Amino acid sequence: VQRGMGAYQRIDEALRLPVEPTAPPAPRDRTSTARPAGPSLPGEQPALALHDVHFSYAPGRPVLRGVSLAVPHRRYVALVGRSGAGKSTVFALVARFYEPDAGAVFFDGRPAASLTREECRRGIAVVDQNTHVIHGTLRENIAYAVPGASEADIRRVIELARLEEVVDRLPGGLSAVIGERGSTLSGGERQRVALARALLARPSLLLLDEPTSHLDAINESALTTVMKDISQECALLVIAHRLSTVQHADHIVVLQDGRTTAAGSHEELLSGSVLYRELAESQMLRPGGEPYGAAPGQSR
Ligand code: ATP
Repeated sequence: VQRGMGAYQRIDEALRLPVEPTAPPAPRDRTSTARPAGPSLPGEQPALALHDVHFSYAPGRPVLRGVSLAVPHRRYVALVGRSGAGKSTVFALVARFYEPDAGAVFFDGRPAASLTREECRRGIAVVDQNTHVIHGTLRENIAYAVPGASEADIRRVIELARLEEVVDRLPGGLSAVIGERGSTLSGGERQRVALARALLARPSLLLLDEPTSHLDAINESALTTVMKDISQECALLVIAHRLSTVQHADHIVVLQDGRTTAAGSHEELLSGSVLYRELAESQMLRPGGEPYGAAPGQSR
């Protein structure tokens, strides 16, 4: 009975959570229907664009104070900034957990405010720092959102997420039971399972929060290749603290105190953004990725 009561209380808490309205919410700032700014392929709107977005969790305490960025299709864009700059908040707005106070979010050139949350989220996958595996086989964990996925598709995402050695290692491979009472996976392996799961749904936009926080098993140079491979499949927006992870991104956006203050390539930002250079120096990175303490060209 005590175990049942504990479970009941957790279910009751979930049932009492407010239900999201399904209709498109009225935008708080109806004047913000301007077209998105930023790079895109000719004739193609970016998969995601934010146009001068402002947002506060509590009145009078702005967190985002003018965020503009664009993630074109099949491009790898990174969002960097100090802790507390508002990076995760940008993701929360893109996933429509919150609505901007002013400014607008666009998906494929369409204002998010004109779409239902369901419509916005249909093409988005998010892999954040809190990855979950369920008690079940590795295959069930990967195919969780696409239960009828073909063998070829599952193999494709295993390769993309660099999960082959995990499949090879676990007794039973894809049929190995993982999760609460199954084989334990490391944090990095769980994150790669979450990545494979997200990619299987063939999102048009993938949001990755801190891909290196647990991806210890993939070294950072291999991770760069992973990101490039993924961006061949969808638009990719990555939050990262470690600049070495994102220095090869197609475009890097710097977020400072809730504002996008600079954008460009790693090299452009090293010379054009004081904050970016400070972050790079604090992480001991030369423009080529070597530590500042090492001779140029010397590998880390
Ligand atoms: P980090 O790199 O440390 O993850 P971040 O750049 O992602 O930081 P956010 O998590 O977006 O920053 O937080 C930006 C600001 O908003 C911080 O001051 C944080 O305390 C505040 N904040 C974040 N989430 C909430 C919330 N749910 N309610 C109130 N304030 C929040």
